[in-house]
Amino acid sequence: MPELPEVETTRKGIEPYLKNRTVKSVTVRNPRLRWPIPKTLAKSLLGKKILSVKRRAKYLLIETTAGTLILHLGMSGSLRISATGTDYRKHDHFALTLSNKKELRLHDPRRFGAVLWTDDDINQHPLLASLGPEPLEKDFNSIYLYRTNQNRKISIKQHIMNSKIVVGVGNIYASEALFLAGIHPKRAAKRISKVRIERLVGSIKSVLADSIEQGGTTLRDFVRENGEPGYFAQHLNVYGKSGNPCPHCDKIIKQIVLGQRSTYYCPNCQR
Ligand code: ZN
Repeated sequence: MPELPEVETTRKGIEPYLKNRTVKSVTVRNPRLRWPIPKTLAKSLLGKKILSVKRRAKYLLIETTAGTLILHLGMSGSLRISATGTDYRKHDHFALTLSNKKELRLHDPRRFGAVLWTDDDINQHPLLASLGPEPLEKDFNSIYLYRTNQNRKISIKQHIMNSKIVVGVGNIYASEALFLAGIHPKRAAKRISKVRIERLVGSIKSVLADSIEQGGTTLRDFVRENGEPGYFAQHLNVYGKSGNPCPHCDKIIKQIVLGQRSTYYCPNCQR
């Protein structure tokens, strides 16, 4: 599943091809995504200039002079820049043709992705309005996270994966960040000291930033027909490593299920 770093890498990959271009045509090959692609989308987008490509949580926001196209990659989606007239691949459901003779194509075998439109204030959109801060922005800091922890009996892992608290900390990154911070994933959020919360905020920021940096090496794949953009191998310490030795202490990494999600940790390094 594309996580925040993959979505940010996608944003960086497509933006140079979209920014300041005009939408020449809109192709909907299959409107049945997570929600139906709006029937009026072509009317909203045709002839409009793209001003920027932004990201909020895992939503890509293509800002035009008339409103914002909202894209989500769901479970299996990826975006690619193709030359106009190139054959579509199976599962290419949506395409925008631009004034530079390039096309932005959404490929999504499982169809949990989304293509939506708004001409209102994007921050008030129902999908975005109640989201917590971005993990790499200044407003996600230890004072903020410590304050949200108070009276929370819920485990710290579930707490940091709640998008109302902070966006973009997916299952892999939550396990990895807790490992780096030395915090047991099941520990109650309210029982963690300020110092350890500060360490956790730092490790959340560093695992996400490192992953985005690694994604930079795949940017050229957005325009290569045989490349697979959007996903990239990353260095993991504990996620998916149950039964292997901990890279810090050699004790065996454990796997548990927490909030219905697989969770990996070192019982020696994480308390
Ligand atoms: Zn260990």
